[in-house]
Amino acid sequence: MEKVDVAIVGSGFSGLGMAIRLKQEGKHDFVILERDDDVGGTWNANTYPGCACDIPSHLYSFSFAPNPNWSHTYSPQPEIREYLHSCANDFGIRPHVRLRTTVTDARWVEDEGRWHVETDVGEDVSARVLISAMGPLTEPKVPDLPGLDEFEGETWHSARWNHDYDLDGKRVASIGTGASAIQYVPRIQPEVEKLHVFQRTAPWIAPHNNRPIHDWERALYRALPPLQRLVRGGVYTLRESMILMLAKRPPAMKILERAARLHRERQVKDPDLMRKVTPDYSMGCKRILPSNHWYPALQQPNVELVTGGVREVRPNSVVGEDGVEREVDAIVFGTGFQVTEMPAAELITGTEGVPLSEIWAGSPRAHRGATVPGFPNLFLLLGPNTGLGHSSMVYMVESQIAYVLDALRTMRERRVPVAEVSATALERYNAEIDERMEGTIWNTGCVSWYQDATGRNGAIWPDWTWRFRQETAEFDEDAYELRAPAPARVPVPA
Ligand code: NAP
Repeated sequence: MEKVDVAIVGSGFSGLGMAIRLKQEGKHDFVILERDDDVGGTWNANTYPGCACDIPSHLYSFSFAPNPNWSHTYSPQPEIREYLHSCANDFGIRPHVRLRTTVTDARWVEDEGRWHVETDVGEDVSARVLISAMGPLTEPKVPDLPGLDEFEGETWHSARWNHDYDLDGKRVASIGTGASAIQYVPRIQPEVEKLHVFQRTAPWIAPHNNRPIHDWERALYRALPPLQRLVRGGVYTLRESMILMLAKRPPAMKILERAARLHRERQVKDPDLMRKVTPDYSMGCKRILPSNHWYPALQQPNVELVTGGVREVRPNSVVGEDGVEREVDAIVFGTGFQVTEMPAAELITGTEGVPLSEIWAGSPRAHRGATVPGFPNLFLLLGPNTGLGHSSMVYMVESQIAYVLDALRTMRERRVPVAEVSATALERYNAEIDERMEGTIWNTGCVSWYQDATGRNGAIWPDWTWRFRQETAEFDEDAYELRAPAPARVPVPA
């Protein structure tokens, strides 16, 4: 069994960022366990046509690794993957990464004060600190549609795109109209013979202001790095101002709703289609989707927008709620991810011998989105209530990384190997989150993946992002029990 100080699970933005910052602090005793064939997390896994980031590139990157070479103001997926690969190489992270290594079990061993991490390749790891960087948008969610098992054509999820399947001349059903579908539908539409787009809820589509970055701009960023930092700051401020509407004064969202309505009216002329694509909930309650290509794609002669859900799947067709049977060769699921169910939580077992998933019971909660009582020395990156709809998750990740680094520093200085958050701190923190969530746009009645099995919004950070940064800038040791591992339990003589 390999013994390390820190084991990081996952090598997306959060896992890589954590590793880089550890190295920068002179800490080299860590491994990254990654189930995929390369680093990059979601940006390695999602390769669907048109995949791109809807948050501007200058902000959607590490603050410590600016990239002056972005080709567009919003980067396509291959560039972001390339960026993450370069970060792994340039910061010397590769030697720490174990690729194609899936964690199958992680168990706290109190007597040792360590985590025992088992993997599917038999290379087990013992670590004092376990950092879960598995990402909230990792496990595809495919609806359990009646008859799906009997379907004779091809099916796949947007996050596991089947590039071997030739779409040319095929009849395809695409289910879901979320952030992924609005990117791939316009891209596959010209290839297929027929595309049936199944929309359960009409999304809010905003005009997209993506544009190529000119060579001269790139040259300027290379020559003058502070200029790129300035642009990043400007983008951050502009994005952050949206919190005024989303969280502080939701009625003000009407301003953005108006812009989206004008966009819709400019692009959609048919009244029947207009009725179908008009959202029936407040803008921002679900993620706002920027696209100039979505409405035009829906109006192509080979596209049919089917509203309502899917009733059933038959061996060669999909039947909508309208009862109409549509013959198809393939079904693509743009149906999102298992977020609040978080399958990774089933793998992690704490002091009570119970998996995190059982403790959460369908309603994930953590202190500062990172720590849970009964799970000492476990830090969740991008854990509960750290998600954003309006700004860069990389900003949130970097805030949490600073928190973890300060936790490790505090343990070192206090000469205690174990830190466990108290139940009181968890309760207090989550009560505050719930209070902040009241009166926000996310509480206006729509059903979204932000809500867990109990209806609680366990995904979104409901306040300014700079406030999250402030609150995670220092490890709040008062919220923790700092201790040595408990001595081995001596069996009581009979
Ligand atoms: P999503 O936003 O959760 O969308 C899933 C879609 O599938 C929704 O339209 C949903 O309809 C529909 N759906 C789910 N189950 C269904 C069923 N049984 N029958 C019919 N329709 C069903 O998933 P996603 O598009 O993969 O995006 C997930 C998240 O990934 C995003 O919110 C975003 O955070 C992230 N993402 C980001 C980017 C980016 O550019 N940064 C790009 C892609 C994804 P309802 O609305 O009715 O539930």
